[in-house]
Amino acid sequence: MQSYQAASDVLDGKVILVTGAGDGIGKEAALSYARHGASVILLGKTVAKLTAVYDVIVAAGGKEPAIIPLDLKGATAKHYRDMAATITAEFGHLDGVLHNAGILGVLSPFEHIDLTSWQDIMQVNVTAAMLMTQALMPALKLAPHASVVFTSSGVGRKGRAFWGPYAVSKFATEGLMQVMADEYDNSNVRVNCINPGATRTKMRSRAYPGEDVNLLKTPADLMWLYLYLMSDDSIGVNGQSLDAQAK
Ligand code: NDP
Repeated sequence: MQSYQAASDVLDGKVILVTGAGDGIGKEAALSYARHGASVILLGKTVAKLTAVYDVIVAAGGKEPAIIPLDLKGATAKHYRDMAATITAEFGHLDGVLHNAGILGVLSPFEHIDLTSWQDIMQVNVTAAMLMTQALMPALKLAPHASVVFTSSGVGRKGRAFWGPYAVSKFATEGLMQVMADEYDNSNVRVNCINPGATRTKMRSRAYPGEDVNLLKTPADLMWLYLYLMSDDSIGVNGQSLDAQAK
């Protein structure tokens, strides 16, 4: 799998939703999915960032994307149900979801963890992904093969001092992935996690403001795994937490 090379049309005909599609890794994934033939649904908080990604895709001759402006912090189950109904009406089904949007919060000693910040991080990183996936299941079940990809982190496998709520949210993400993968085993829906590893984005700069970003992988370096898990080449891969920097 580490030697995976996606064919240029590997996602042709697929409809893929990307959360946090306006910046960082999610932006690169949306562009990459579109370049490989997918119709992408761009979900995110900042509309201007989403329209900028839309413009790049259209200018490159990609299929026209859809835009869903949504702040995951305030979104309710009804928002996700309405969104799922719109997607089904527009596209008929959904082949993939990349749960990429996430927030870091403030790194702090355990005794300084603020409850509101804890709840916001759980809401955006875990609860939103759970509610959204729940609402999207009918559309995913209508696809011949569907892929749900969650975004984890190294601190979602081994806790680290001062990473409090973010780390716990990523452990929860791994748990949600495992529960779903077991439940949907032998169905048309496969469920996996990607751990991007240290990557040159705004979130990484906030966590490590002093480091030399030139030493970091870029989002583009990770796309082999993002493409693999969304493509039919990964049919049968289920319940895995994979490292995008394993290549
Ligand atoms: P960025 O901060 O660069 O991008 C995060 C994206 O999530 C942005 O598009 C942002 O939108 C969106 N987002 C944040 N909050 C909300 C919200 N409330 N509603 C909707 N969208 C929201 O992060 P990265 O690209 O670095 O991270 C992507 C994923 O990878 C995250 O899940 C992160 O935890 C994970 N990760 C990243 C690593 C790294 O080194 N970069 C390492 C390990 C894991 P907007 O710009 O509009 O705010």
